[in-house]
Amino acid sequence: MAKINDNFLKLPGSYLFSTIAKKVAAYTAANPDKEIIKMGIGDVTKPLAPAVIEAMHKAVDEMGTADGFRGYGPEQGYDFLRDKIVEKDYRARGIDIKSDEIFVSDGAKSDCGNIGDIFSKDNKVAVCDPVYPVYVDTNAMAGRAGEFVGEHWTNLYYMSCTEENGFMPELPTEKVDMIYLCFPNNPTGVSATREQLKPWVEYAKKNGAVILYDSAYEAFITNPDVPHSIYEIEGAKEVAIEFRSFSKTAGFTGTRCAYTVVPHELKIDGTELNSLWNRRQCTKFNGVPYVIQKAAEAVYSDEGHKQTREAIEYYLENAKIIRESLTEAGLTVFGGENAPYIWAKTPDGMKSWDFFDKLLEEAGVVTTPGAGFGPSGEGYIRLTAFSTKENTIKAMEKIKAIL
Ligand SMILES: *Cc1c(COP(=O)(O)O)cnc(C)c1O
Repeated sequence: MAKINDNFLKLPGSYLFSTIAKKVAAYTAANPDKEIIKMGIGDVTKPLAPAVIEAMHKAVDEMGTADGFRGYGPEQGYDFLRDKIVEKDYRARGIDIKSDEIFVSDGAKSDCGNIGDIFSKDNKVAVCDPVYPVYVDTNAMAGRAGEFVGEHWTNLYYMSCTEENGFMPELPTEKVDMIYLCFPNNPTGVSATREQLKPWVEYAKKNGAVILYDSAYEAFITNPDVPHSIYEIEGAKEVAIEFRSFSKTAGFTGTRCAYTVVPHELKIDGTELNSLWNRRQCTKFNGVPYVIQKAAEAVYSDEGHKQTREAIEYYLENAKIIRESLTEAGLTVFGGENAPYIWAKTPDGMKSWDFFDKLLEEAGVVTTPGAGFGPSGEGYIRLTAFSTKENTIKAMEKIKAIL
C-alpha cells in the first residue's frame, strides 16, 4: 500500500487569511453601505511598466515566427537575463557574482521551499519569529521541523524578533545548520544594516551553517547602510544562498519570475551547493518562459528601471503616510522605511485579533494580525503600503478618528 508523506498531516491549518476574509465578509453583510479599505494586501497593485509590456509583446510576436520560436530554454535561465542580473544587481554594487551562479526561476517562494531538496533532513533549522510561513512549512513537509506542539515545531530553532531587540534576531545560542533570514523583513518591515549582518556571516563560517537570505524586498531599500545583497558582507559567498524576485521589485507577482544565487565558493565537505542546485533544477524544472524572461530583462533597461522605480516610490510614499499617521494616532510603529510593511504595536497591550476587529468594525480598515505570523507577532498588526494613495490616506484618517 502506498504511504503518504505524513509530515503533511502534522501541519496546522493556515487560517490567517481565510479567517480575515470571513470576518470581512461578515462585516460587509452586516454593514452593506459601509466602505471597507484593505490595508492588509500582500500583493502589488500597480500595473506592469510600459517597457516591460512592450518587451513581452515583442517576445510573443517572435514566438510566432519560424526564426524566433523557442522551445525548451536553459533550465537555469537565458544568458541575456543572467548576464543582466550579474551586471545590474551585483557588479554595479561591486559584488563579483558569475552568470552560472544565477538560477532564474518562477518565484522566490518556490525556490525558498525547493532549496530544502539539497539539504539533509537532519539539519537543524533556525527561523525568525514572526516569520514568512513558507520557511517553516516547507521544512515541516520535509520532516525537518519535528512535531507541532502548542505554537511551535519541536525541532526548529526560533529566533524571536521583539521590540526589545529591535526585531533583529539574536545569534543562536546553540548550533544550527540552516538559517533563514529575510531583510527587509516581511512581516515587520525592519531592515538589517551591514554591521548587523556581519555577525551572521561569522556565525555561519564558524559553525558550518548556511544562510538562506531572502532579499525579495531589496528594491525598497532607501538607507545607504542597508545592503541590497548578503554578498555585500565579506565572506558571505562561502556561506549564503540569496533569493531575489521580480515580484515586489517590478510587479511580477502574477507574471512570475525570480532568481536564486548559489556561489561556487559555497561548499559543504568539498561539495559545491551550486552543482547540487543545478542538478535539482535540471531534473525538476524546465525553465521560465522566454516571454517572461524577456519581460524581466526589460526591468533593467533605462526606461524599465525608471518606470518600475516610480511604482516603488509610490508604495514608499504610502508607507510614510502610514507611519506618520499611526504615530500621530498614538501608536508605536516599526518598519516602513526600507520596506512596504509597517508593524504597529497594538494600544494598551491589546491582542492582535482584538485590535484587528476594532479597526475593522469601527474604522472599516482591514489589517493583518501579527499573531498570524508566529507567537512573537502577538500584540502587533501588519499594514501594507500596496493600496492606492487615496485609500491609504482615507484609512489613516479613519483610524485616527477612532483612536
Ligand atoms: C512576496 C515574497 C516573496 C516573493 O515570492 P515570489 O514567489 O517570487 O512571488 C519572497 N519572500 C517573501 C518574504 C515575500 O514576502
